[in-house]
Amino acid sequence: MHELPILRSIVGVALRHAVEAGASRVLAVDVKVGELRGLDAAWIQSYFDFVTEGTPAAGASLRLKESKALFRCRSCGATFPPGPHAGGDVACPHCSSKHVELASGNELLIESIDVV
Ligand SMILES: [Zn+2]
Repeated sequence: MHELPILRSIVGVALRHAVEAGASRVLAVDVKVGELRGLDAAWIQSYFDFVTEGTPAAGASLRLKESKALFRCRSCGATFPPGPHAGGDVACPHCSSKHVELASGNELLIESIDVV
């Protein structure tokens, strides 16, 4: 599970943010998760609870926002969803260029943190 260190660092960032803000508790953390990571929301919350136990973030709710996978064409700038050909060569549906990059869908990052 290579997401564990990432989640642990997310909790670390949230706790540091709380300290810097002079807050005593973290109430909620908004996290953006790309759908390509295929993470199980229930699993993330239970691991979050485990990692935050005994910290100011204990009991905080983890709000996951899934971002859809999206490619961006480097030739014409169009963005488009992966479509049915996952895993194979991805070509731009507009100009057929194969110079495409992943624009979103692989994130795992903090969007905002609520503290008191
Ligand atoms: Zn294109």
